Amino acid sequence: MTEVSGRLWAIREVTSRQIRSIPELAAGVQVGQIFGCNTFDAGTMRQKLPKAVFHSLHETVRRGRKLDPAIANEVAHAVKEWALAKGATHFCHWFQPQTGLTAEKHDAFLTFDDEGMPMERFSGAQLIQSEPDASSFPSGGMRTTFEARGYTAWDPSSPIFLIDGPNGKTLCVPSVFISYHGDALDNKTPLLRSMEALSERAVAVLRLFGEHRERVVPTLGPEQEYFLVDRAFYALRPDLIAAGRTLVGAKPPKGQELEDHYFGSIKDRILAFMQESEHELFKLGIPIKTRHNEVAPSQYETAPIFEEANVASDHNQMVMETMNRVARRHNLALLLHEKPFAGINGSGKHCNWSLMDSEGRNLLEPGATPERNLSFLVFLLAVLKGVHKRAGLLRAAIASAGNDHRLGANEAPPAIISVFLGDQLNRVLDAIENGEGAGPQGIERLSLGIQKLPEVARDNTDRNRTSPFAFTGNKFEFRAVPSTASIAVPIALLNAAVAEALGEFEAAITTRAGKKGSFQDAVLAVIKEAVVATKAIRFEGNNYAPEWVVEAKRRGLPNLRTSPEALAELVKPDSKTFLAKMKVFTEAESEARYHVKMERYVKDVEIEVETLTGLVAAHVLPAALKQRALLGSAGNSKAVQGCAKSLDTLIGKLTSQMEALEEDVEKAGKATGVEKKALLLAQKVVTGMAEIRETADAIEESVADAFWTLPKYHEMLFLV
Ligand code: ADP
Ligand code: MG
Repeated sequence: MTEVSGRLWAIREVTSRQIRSIPELAAGVQVGQIFGCNTFDAGTMRQKLPKAVFHSLHETVRRGRKLDPAIANEVAHAVKEWALAKGATHFCHWFQPQTGLTAEKHDAFLTFDDEGMPMERFSGAQLIQSEPDASSFPSGGMRTTFEARGYTAWDPSSPIFLIDGPNGKTLCVPSVFISYHGDALDNKTPLLRSMEALSERAVAVLRLFGEHRERVVPTLGPEQEYFLVDRAFYALRPDLIAAGRTLVGAKPPKGQELEDHYFGSIKDRILAFMQESEHELFKLGIPIKTRHNEVAPSQYETAPIFEEANVASDHNQMVMETMNRVARRHNLALLLHEKPFAGINGSGKHCNWSLMDSEGRNLLEPGATPERNLSFLVFLLAVLKGVHKRAGLLRAAIASAGNDHRLGANEAPPAIISVFLGDQLNRVLDAIENGEGAGPQGIERLSLGIQKLPEVARDNTDRNRTSPFAFTGNKFEFRAVPSTASIAVPIALLNAAVAEALGEFEAAITTRAGKKGSFQDAVLAVIKEAVVATKAIRFEGNNYAPEWVVEAKRRGLPNLRTSPEALAELVKPDSKTFLAKMKVFTEAESEARYHVKMERYVKDVEIEVETLTGLVAAHVLPAALKQRALLGSAGNSKAVQGCAKSLDTLIGKLTSQMEALEEDVEKAGKATGVEKKALLLAQKVVTGMAEIRETADAIEESVADAFWTLPKYHEMLFLV
């Protein structure tokens, strides 16, 4: 029985784990006492900074202005004193290269004074800017190697924070990452730029309504889904380690059929992990609100209270990192992949998104007065218009090798972008379309109708869970966003799409209002036009149904099934012009993004191919051959012969499928240009891998348990 020693060891480990409990937490910690204690937030700033400096910095953040360089030294000094008092020894610019992860290069505060004595120093210049060696980050050709310089620059709109290490703290300065020429090399820069584009146009629209606002910001509450498996199992699964998902593995007898995991009571060991993660996140000022079991076994969700998009996006990166770190302490492996297990639900990041003006009003909240309802409709239609016009780009923004396995699979939104509005709003829009809202009388009726809108919020329970983009009462939920990814770029493109539509509305309303008729008539006419123009994007039915694919095609909606097809949207001339106009990406930056994403796709698939090849050689085939030998020595009965024959068939099939895969990979390798290569991988190699998987799973189901060396699905999913 030596063959299963690894698996048996893992099962023994898992079933005898102690729950990690922290006495301080177990005794109960009041959130108010620790929340944000590791951040240099507004409260700390007020305390630590001279009044004038605080005021200047606060205004910079509040208004989204540029930092006055004159205050940098004083801010840096205060930050340093605060960090040292907290036990920090190092500082870093914390940024988000296009790997989807975060990057940090730590420098000690250490320096020497004139007498050669060691001391701590942190200057304004060090706070504002730093120059990491940028040559090893993906740039998509934005930097040539002889000009590999990249700069990080402090983003004061996201709070400075301290990360705990086992032996001291590190001060992290949230930063953008740009090239020598100012090109965006990261994910944060386009998000910040898109927020400016959006604010400018939203403010202009509000001005038409006589509402003078300083800024409008997108608000964001990302619900993060994830899986947890025991690290002992994880250690025995090369596919989970290398690819983040299982590449083989037969479906367990019990998956999620019983629907007994969703909102089920949380196992103590998992709860201990969640509580410790939340504690860490509270210290970082991240407002984690919700935790629950998700639909699939071993799947969970965490969600924060929404914040300004830029801060929410930074915080989501910190959530992923912190959970990863804390999971290890609990002997758990955090799986953020979109589809870690075949046959059960995958994970996404539902991005709840809305618009808030500088007085705190949610612009997607149906209002109490006819005027407010009218502006609500303008913003609602701007979202419809933006999503309709830029559906292809939004699909591109969520494209990744991982998400390709989720879009269209179990419970996941399909690759076709459409918008769900719900019954009530649809009725309102239909009424407008049918002219019931066109005249002054119509406005009366319309406003009455809309005033009943709070019912929409109450309707939430029966909302459509199959839609990739759904209105949920006073915000939209962009559901197709991948669980592993940074949300910065998907949200940047959404912001840009809505900004474009708002700009067009502002122009159209201004033109019409200049002619005869009332302002309200002008607005209603523009709304009506938009309702008609965006009809194709509205879909209330079941997005998973095959009929929808046909219907969507009829409506002319893009169905970009694989990442390479979707990513091509980024470099269409019209997309590039649009992104440049919104100042989110220059045309060169769009090209660069495209290359980075395509290359990443290719690498991801290539890693999976190598991993799968290894798994077959080291685990699947040896198990099959052992079983074959066992059958060979089991006598000559008809039954044994039958088993041997079907096993031979499987082994034969597996080897020829592996050969075919190898050929396809070779062909892809020889293809000229990343486009062709990526398409070949998507169309041939990924499907080839899925076929191999089927055979491997059939083999798993026909060999003795003792011969199977990889942890099985039911073990990974049900033993914690
Ligand atoms: P559910 O989606 O399960 O119904 P909620 O509606 O309570 O849950 O909210 C889900 C997420 O949406 C939370 O992160 C919440 O903070 C966020 N959210 C609520 N209102 C807004 C808003 N105006 N803008 C952005 N996100 C929001
Ligand atoms: Mg939700």
